[in-house]
Amino acid sequence: MKILFLHGWNSAVGGVKPTFLRNSGHTVLNPPLDHNDFPTAVAQAQQVFDLQQPDVVVGSSRGGAVAMNLANDRIPLVLLCPAWKNWGTANSIAPNSIVLHSPNDEIIPFADSVELLRNSRLPAEALLEVGNDHRLADEEPLAVMLWSCELLCSGQTLPWLDPTSARREAVNASGSVSDCEATYVCDACGEEIVVPVDLSEGNRQTYVEDCPVCCRANLISIQLDDDGLLQISAEPEQDRD
Ligand SMILES: [Zn+2]
Repeated sequence: MKILFLHGWNSAVGGVKPTFLRNSGHTVLNPPLDHNDFPTAVAQAQQVFDLQQPDVVVGSSRGGAVAMNLANDRIPLVLLCPAWKNWGTANSIAPNSIVLHSPNDEIIPFADSVELLRNSRLPAEALLEVGNDHRLADEEPLAVMLWSCELLCSGQTLPWLDPTSARREAVNASGSVSDCEATYVCDACGEEIVVPVDLSEGNRQTYVEDCPVCCRANLISIQLDDDGLLQISAEPEQDRD
């Protein structure tokens, strides 16, 4: 996946969250955004968005407001305690969005996200209660953030959304479901290998591919489970028989 990560106010580029996404095998664009002038920050994000065409946009706090104010008609958003009431004019989000927020957030009230979903006519379940604070940098919120990106990137229908409209939105949002990537570790040489995953080929796929680093044949198994999580594993092909 190519992820555009929009940092929060006075946060530094290269924080825990974008680093976590990068370490999970994804391409993460993490542009510096102007701290003082919000329209400038939106313009900076828009430039990278237009140029790089990410698969998903993750916005944290003020960066969530930046994400909501982008000119964007189909790319999914993962919003972490978005500060939409504090910055910008957008007050709703598309159905291909997921919001993460802690009820214990000491900076942006959880109620702001409840209101955002109501404005967007999205069911309350599209708001995920995670973490214990505003940073959402602990193990659980990090994992849920990654899960949300992978789910939305895969173009899967969120189980809790109206199936008809959500599916239509999901198709519009993804354009093609072939844009996903997954990473496996080659058993022979230990290198991390990124492979494109075309989910239109089915939720379970197995194929043999030679490791591009050491040329050993690996049996690759890809599975999209019921929660929308993409699982990938590799084993040496000769061990099969
Ligand atoms: Zn290898």
